[in-house]
Amino acid sequence: MRVHSLFALFLIGILPILFFAWEMLNTYDTTAFEQRKNDLQSQGSSMANLLLTSGYFSDPTIEEVNTELLRTANIYDGRILVVDNKLNILKDTYGIEDGNIIISEDVIKCLGGVNSIRQDKENNFVEMTVPITRTTTTTKEVMGVILMNFSTKNINTISAILSQKANVLFLTTAILIFVYAFFYSGVFTKPFINLKKAIGHLTEGYMDEEVKVDGFYEVKQISNSLNQMLLRIKNLERSRQEFVSNVSHELKTPITSIKVLADSLIMQENVPPELYREFLVDITEEIERENKIINDLLSLVKLDKTASEMNITSIKINDLLELVLKRLRPIAKKNNIELIYESFRPVIAEVDEVKLSLALSNLIENAIKYNVEDGWVRVSLNADHKYFYVKVADSGIGIPEDAQDFIFDRFYRVDKARSRGTGGTGLGLSITKNAIHMHKGAIKVYSKENEGTTFTVRVPINYIA
Ligand code: ADP
Repeated sequence: MRVHSLFALFLIGILPILFFAWEMLNTYDTTAFEQRKNDLQSQGSSMANLLLTSGYFSDPTIEEVNTELLRTANIYDGRILVVDNKLNILKDTYGIEDGNIIISEDVIKCLGGVNSIRQDKENNFVEMTVPITRTTTTTKEVMGVILMNFSTKNINTISAILSQKANVLFLTTAILIFVYAFFYSGVFTKPFINLKKAIGHLTEGYMDEEVKVDGFYEVKQISNSLNQMLLRIKNLERSRQEFVSNVSHELKTPITSIKVLADSLIMQENVPPELYREFLVDITEEIERENKIINDLLSLVKLDKTASEMNITSIKINDLLELVLKRLRPIAKKNNIELIYESFRPVIAEVDEVKLSLALSNLIENAIKYNVEDGWVRVSLNADHKYFYVKVADSGIGIPEDAQDFIFDRFYRVDKARSRGTGGTGLGLSITKNAIHMHKGAIKVYSKENEGTTFTVRVPINYIA
């Protein structure tokens, strides 16, 4: 990351400067050259004018004109040749070719009416032809050509100086940007390195420490999220440990009772057969209880697995409820509890039949178990276009308000003695809650001590995976 940000910062800093310098030099070159060309062209035309008006073609020795030609050639550090239309060189400001014949493609073309301008960058000069045309109202006669050859050395020299300065500027800026990018990329990546260290610390097992990383806002956000995740992991770990210790305690209790009962039989001599019988009945009850705890735990473990374990079918919930009630009716009868079933409409829904019956059966069984003499349990089924609702209301002992938040916790029982007396393990409601949640449903409890309890369950009619 550091290398990347260093590289990115460097590029962002250096590329515009490079581009700017290149563009500046280029612009200077073209503008300077264009200006020189325009200058030459206007000088050329005024010289052509002078040559015509002075009658230079009949007398090329006119002193004034020659001086003017020399002066112009000197100003532009160049050479001027005046050629007539028979290619005779009338004047060479270098004084070398006077009187000779010129054979130049550009001159011939110019006599034919085509001007030319040519830049020789290697040898630093510009060559330009300007026609000397005599124009009357009816005719247009090319009398000759001015061939100008001017040095572009000074443009190139300035350009070279400029590019040298640009190079120095570029190098200094590049170094400055590199140094800045190097330090800044360090500052930029430091919080991430610290974060990595903090996570490494957690991985090594120091889970009790908070992740605390200062720096950019985003990094703080990451460290906050990490702390939240850590808290969740710690809570999960705590509840896992609690669960394990609860399980071992619950599983041990019936075994301890069995051992106590068996020991007391062994210790006594000449135990009457009735006592044997009585103790063996107690032992059988404890075994049944152990069995129930194991079965509930297995149900819970199964429900803890992922939703892919769901066996979804479309079934009539009315039938499912009737079947559950039919199984529980004998228990209700034994306790003299009236079991009422109300169904407002036929409901067909996509559910896992086994899991849902377990969930509802636990609720109705609790309503019977935690009821009063001659009490009642009312189970009702209703639905709208999206959900079906099962309500289990009872006239029972109710749940104290401060306990209502915990009844869905594993092994939680309001009154351990009563729950144990009724064969409760404290796992029923957590099984119910898990099963309902696996259907993406919701469960709520309304209860008042000594008045009764109502559980409402809401489950989507169409299964949401
Ligand atoms: P248990 O196996 O003890 O019944 P549950 O998880 O099913 O365990 O229920 C947890 C506790 O919630 C019970 O021990 C009981 O105290 C209380 N409870 C559950 N349902 C009712 C109810 N309908 N009326 C009163 N108390 C209830």
